[in-house]
Amino acid sequence: MRKSFITNLKKLLENKKNITILPHKNPDGDAMGSCLALKLFLKKFGHNCNIISPNDYPDFLDWMPGISKVLKFSSNKIFCEKLIKESDIIFTLDFNSLKRVEIIGDLIKKTKSIIVMIDHHENPDDFSQLTYSDPKIASTCEMTYNVIEKIKIQELDSEIASCLYTGILTDTGSFKYPSTSSRTHLIVSRLLETGINHTEIHQNIYDNFKKSRISLLSIALSNLKILDHLNTVYITLTNKELKKNNFKKGDTEGFVNYGLSIKGIKLSIILIENSKEKIIKMSFRSKGDFNVNVLAKDYFNGGGHTNASGGASPRSMNDTIKYLIYVLNKNSNKLK
Ligand code: 5GP
Ligand code: MN
Repeated sequence: MRKSFITNLKKLLENKKNITILPHKNPDGDAMGSCLALKLFLKKFGHNCNIISPNDYPDFLDWMPGISKVLKFSSNKIFCEKLIKESDIIFTLDFNSLKRVEIIGDLIKKTKSIIVMIDHHENPDDFSQLTYSDPKIASTCEMTYNVIEKIKIQELDSEIASCLYTGILTDTGSFKYPSTSSRTHLIVSRLLETGINHTEIHQNIYDNFKKSRISLLSIALSNLKILDHLNTVYITLTNKELKKNNFKKGDTEGFVNYGLSIKGIKLSIILIENSKEKIIKMSFRSKGDFNVNVLAKDYFNGGGHTNASGGASPRSMNDTIKYLIYVLNKNSNKLK
């Protein structure tokens, strides 16, 4: 974190402000965790804060402190637009391209608000006046902790800590991704000292699934294909399969990781049909140095991190698979 970032941020927060906090579309544990933690923290100084999510958050985050007050832009456009226009400060958390908040991006380009980005994805776009961007850090929640530490660590309480723990847990793959550092564990240690119940948080996130998710998982696993010569696995879920199992946002979270659990597999991809948006949403996960951020950016209009990224294809499922295999064959030397 640059010294000027925190000096300017502190100055900005010296008197009471109207603040909007934005996570990316389809917010995950890290996006919601960092937004909620930041709101709880800023409220302690009397700021007027609202979190506006582009769309709904997944059910498995329902238990998070303060989440019921999160506004959804998709179902409350007029009020959200007013709040955005009236904001002195807009925090953009866990994304670095305005594409990831869709139409909200156009709104914030027009505002006079100061935009503060806190994010850990690669290649940040240039839309913020204050920027804390660091792709080496495992989660935006870890970065939010760093900000809180520099402003007033005495205000860290167990609610804020629960939110931060959630994002750190989910974005490090329960502390297994290479981006997990000794600093990550040090921060977690401090979060635990506030008295959070980490077992309960883990259970809320990972042992709280509906039966329909398990049915969907069994379909996903039976659709799993191994491309032996590319050390790659891909999994498909069609709209028909999703509908049959009452698919809700978040139900397929983590499915892509099953591919990577197979010995020798370096790349796993899940392709999920989204008939409403007429796209195939894709998630990419890799082990080692195969860079899925580059793959998603170069071929699937997406991005993310070296070992975890996402993107989308406008083609049909079959044509997307054909294109994917073509692209992977072109990059086969990196998958050996
Ligand atoms: P997931 O596969 O879990 O949706 O996302 C994995 C990572 O890639 C996350 O860090 C997420 O923010 C990023 N990501 C997912 N979808 C997209 C996308 O369409 N565009 C970009 N730029 N990043 C994405
Ligand atoms: Mn994140």
